Amino acid sequence: MAVTNLDGEYDLILYGLGVMGENFIRNFARNGYRVIGVNRTVSVTERFAQEVAEEPIADRVGTAETLVEACKHLKSPGGAVLAMVKANDPVNEPWGPNDQLFFSGSQAKYSDTDVRDVPALVELVPEGTVIIDAANSHPRSTKKRCGEFAERGMLFIGTGVSGGSEGALKGPCIMPGGTSEAYDAVGEMLEAAAAQVDGPCCTYIGDNEAGHFVKNVHNGIEYGIMAAISETYHALAALLDYAPEQIHPIFAEWNAGRHGGYLMEISTEICGMTDAETGKPMLDVILDRAGQKGTGKWTSQIAFDLGVPVPTIAAALQARIMSSFKPARVAASEKLQGVALDGFSADAKDRLIEAAGDALYGAMVAAYAQGFWLMSEAMDAEPAENGGDYDFTLELDEIARIWKGGCIIRAKMLDPIREAFQQEPDLHNIMLAPHFSEVINDAGFQKNWRWWVRTMVENGLPADAIGASLNYFDTYRTGRLPANMIQAQRDRFGEHGFERVDKEGKGFHLTPAD
Ligand code: NDP
Repeated sequence: MAVTNLDGEYDLILYGLGVMGENFIRNFARNGYRVIGVNRTVSVTERFAQEVAEEPIADRVGTAETLVEACKHLKSPGGAVLAMVKANDPVNEPWGPNDQLFFSGSQAKYSDTDVRDVPALVELVPEGTVIIDAANSHPRSTKKRCGEFAERGMLFIGTGVSGGSEGALKGPCIMPGGTSEAYDAVGEMLEAAAAQVDGPCCTYIGDNEAGHFVKNVHNGIEYGIMAAISETYHALAALLDYAPEQIHPIFAEWNAGRHGGYLMEISTEICGMTDAETGKPMLDVILDRAGQKGTGKWTSQIAFDLGVPVPTIAAALQARIMSSFKPARVAASEKLQGVALDGFSADAKDRLIEAAGDALYGAMVAAYAQGFWLMSEAMDAEPAENGGDYDFTLELDEIARIWKGGCIIRAKMLDPIREAFQQEPDLHNIMLAPHFSEVINDAGFQKNWRWWVRTMVENGLPADAIGASLNYFDTYRTGRLPANMIQAQRDRFGEHGFERVDKEGKGFHLTPAD
């Protein structure tokens, strides 16, 4: 079968046939759009062409060897090119695959030795085409690209996409940023492909890098919740001597209640899985070493630059980094000792499980609280101050709404979060919204939350995200923090000066009375 297989005009070129790209093509085609698939490695396009030829959408999907042929068949005006390729790290790799594709020219790989140059998209696309970067790009890269496209008078969208390969196929959550003019041209198509929960899980997020900023925050929240669930599973297993299958019903019950959401759901499912090869619980045969891709790290870096506290998200990242030192941890475990684990009676077990559930809920609320606070602070950031320079306005209630479907952090608690921002768009922290403050302020809930964290700590069990979440709550609700001592210390060793509680102004110094 010829790789280039085009007939008439197409609405969209999708470049990058990884798991996301090829499933996204099926999704757009199912929604009635005509799509061309193109990939750098031509054999991948060939394989895709063969597969899709057998599918009901075959008449709406074409393939092309390179972007040169594909662009000749793109609708004009009103066509779009959506790039779904590996994102680059702007710090270590300032000029990445997307920039080559858009501005300097990409490649078509026929074999390891036959690699041919392909002109840049800006030279190939017909006038009026909207170029969409749907990779997990760093907001800084997206802002730079927005400027490059604007200079050329071209329409550009930088969009986050969440939902993994299944989401791409069945309907993801789509977070597009860029000019409203570009969104007007492709919004209908993106909204049709998105998950549908209370409307399409896709809305115009805002100018410039807004879409990729929101996707980064989404991934940070994802890191926090994943870590909190994992720590809970690990501690329950250790303290109660439970196998994963005994944790399965506990997680299932939580998932049916207020913890409910995609990450809780898949964690429940995983606890119930058995390895086909060994017959052991699936979790017991999986190596305890997690990777951390760009976005989780970037969320923490962005938050530090903006001066916004994100301890749950940062702790989750650090926990993944620590996990990567597997041989060192195994060696340390032979030399450094913890304590003997407490035993629990049958009655105490039930109380402990209830406490674990409350602590996990507290950590989930903290993760969303940190993400939403980060987004509101980014909107208020002064240009170039604190590494900020964000130039967009976000509607936080709408972000809560589109996160309800298709995406990895979809959860029941996004309903009250949405309502909270509808009622008070400037809400400082979702923990202050009555829906959450009433739960958190409840004496029984708090005792449970604190008891579970204490139990983890007393038994020497890792509580990175769960512990950081409780600390977050306690520091946020403390009217007078120990930062007075920090100010005094800085003045004592460096004459930095401090502010006083009883006078206006800065630059006061330690003046002992005697
Ligand atoms: P990958 O991130 O593994 O990217 C694979 C695709 O990128 C292939 O088409 C590959 O082409 C192409 N590619 C890699 N390097 C280059 C290059 N230098 N020039 C041109 N093309 C290149 O695949 P995924 O499908 O998982 O993800 C695609 C994008 O979507 C990424 O940015 C990812 O972060 C984002 N994303 C992924 C999600 C997921 O769950 N997987 C969820 C949400 C977003 P080739 O075949 O020639 O190597």
